[in-house]
Amino acid sequence: MTRVAVIGAGPSGTAVLRAFQSAAKKKTKIPEIVCFEKQSDWGGLWNYTWRTGLDEHGEPVHGSMYRYLWSNGPKECLEFADYTFEEHFGKAIPSYPPRAVLWDYIKGRVEKAKVRKWVRFSTPVRMVEWDKKKKKFNVTVHDRVKDKMYTEQFDNVIVANGHFSTPQVPEFDGIKTFNGRVMHAHDFRDALEFKDKDVLIVGRSYSAEDIGSQCWKYGARSVTATYRTKPMGFKWPKGFEERPLLQKLVGKTAYFKDGSTKDVDAIILCTGYQHHFPFLSEELRLKTTNRMWPADLYKGVIWEDNPKLSYMGMQDQFYTFNMFDAQAWYVRDVILGRIKLPKKDAMTKNSKAWRKRELTLETPEHAIWFQGDYVKELIAATDYPNFDIEATNKTFMDWEHDKAADIMGYRNKAYRSLMTGNVAPVHHTPWLEAMDDSLETFLKVK
Ligand code: FAD
Ligand code: NAP
Ligand code: MG
Repeated sequence: MTRVAVIGAGPSGTAVLRAFQSAAKKKTKIPEIVCFEKQSDWGGLWNYTWRTGLDEHGEPVHGSMYRYLWSNGPKECLEFADYTFEEHFGKAIPSYPPRAVLWDYIKGRVEKAKVRKWVRFSTPVRMVEWDKKKKKFNVTVHDRVKDKMYTEQFDNVIVANGHFSTPQVPEFDGIKTFNGRVMHAHDFRDALEFKDKDVLIVGRSYSAEDIGSQCWKYGARSVTATYRTKPMGFKWPKGFEERPLLQKLVGKTAYFKDGSTKDVDAIILCTGYQHHFPFLSEELRLKTTNRMWPADLYKGVIWEDNPKLSYMGMQDQFYTFNMFDAQAWYVRDVILGRIKLPKKDAMTKNSKAWRKRELTLETPEHAIWFQGDYVKELIAATDYPNFDIEATNKTFMDWEHDKAADIMGYRNKAYRSLMTGNVAPVHHTPWLEAMDDSLETFLKVK
């Protein structure tokens, strides 16, 4: 029997499980699926951990999420086409759910599909190697509960370990002797730690924007965000400002490129993440930065050098959950033999055309349309339920405009589901006043 290994049970890995289960439900004979997950539960980043550094087994902590994290895009843009929010919660819910609500939603679909039995938890993958003679992968894993390492053979491997977990950490002059807290966004957990503090945020992307906003919301005395390329440019509230790049630190004083200074108590490096695959042999390892079109992946998923290997969710992400679904259904159909892959040259040519277009993208709007077109192409090739990509792109545009208009208020907006056609209710509490982010409080009708 064909055996498929899936590495990781986050939104990408669980999409693969659901894709195969949905084929089996339609009476298709499916391979044996074994998903290895290093954490003790599924949901990937959405499975919150209080831990930082190493986990209970001494493994690097995967989690980069923090308390009070709310979706930073409308849930209408990530909704599963085969399992709506209304189906899961039994009613329409507001557009920007906190983390616990999205975690519940992700879990709901795979619990219903009864695929938990395919997952071996607390089992990090240590090494994947291609056996040329046998044309199979040797996958070595470590069961941390039994403390047992073992190797099994698989016909296909699907890498779904995420790429927002291993921090990218630049060094700044004087940071070694800075008299305060220094951390990367990966280790940020509770904004209350920074109440009444002057916080310096390094970076200008989503983590900078959201961690800065969290600190401000939970009572930081001031937030100063320092950028390398250009400012985020939002209309920040009083006490929140942007400065050109940090040059050096002397004691507690930060010096910026425009010659200005600011005394700060803490530095949070929101400087992004590395694609990190310590478990892949050299010829199987994707090498890329965080971008819209990583190279060497046909249709953004198939490893061109050895199509028995696929990667999930390796792109920078506007689209998330339903893009992972589109990828999972595609990879599934390649493995089931329903989709015939072209020769390597043709695959490379196709990827290069996408890369060429990627290089023309100038704004987030362009990037959203690019990713929308990509999702559309994948969905056309499989039986994943069709949904209106153009309308989804337009919802992303509305989100962008709502953010630009009011960075601290955009999460109070409500959008129309592209799956059910229903408009979301407005949340009972404005985001800035909503200090309790629990599922119970969020779902409560006031
Ligand atoms: P992950 O969620 O990272 O899951 C990967 C899984 O692989 C994990 O469970 C991990 O334990 C496991 N794993 C890793 N290494 C191994 C190994 N060696 N062996 C076995 N298992 C392994 N997206 C949104 O749509 N909305 C948001 O609001 C949003 N907020 C975000 C906030 C933060 C701080 C970050 C970092 C990301 C956010 N994202 C958000 C994007 C996020 O990348 C996706 O939502 C999604 O979690 C990606 O799913 P994934 O399965 O590809 O990766
Ligand atoms: P990212 O988007 O890759 O951005 C990395 C940032 O680091 C960029 O702004 C970059 O600056 C900056 N940077 C890197 N090296 C630097 C250096 N040496 N000096 C100064 N700046 C440097 O990473 P991210 O912001 O961590 O986002 C990762 C993912 O998490 C995204 O998918 C995002 O949506 C998600 N997220 C979501 C939420 C939420 O609210 N739900 C919160 C946080 C993160 P330049 O742009 O100037 O090069
Ligand atoms: Mg289709």
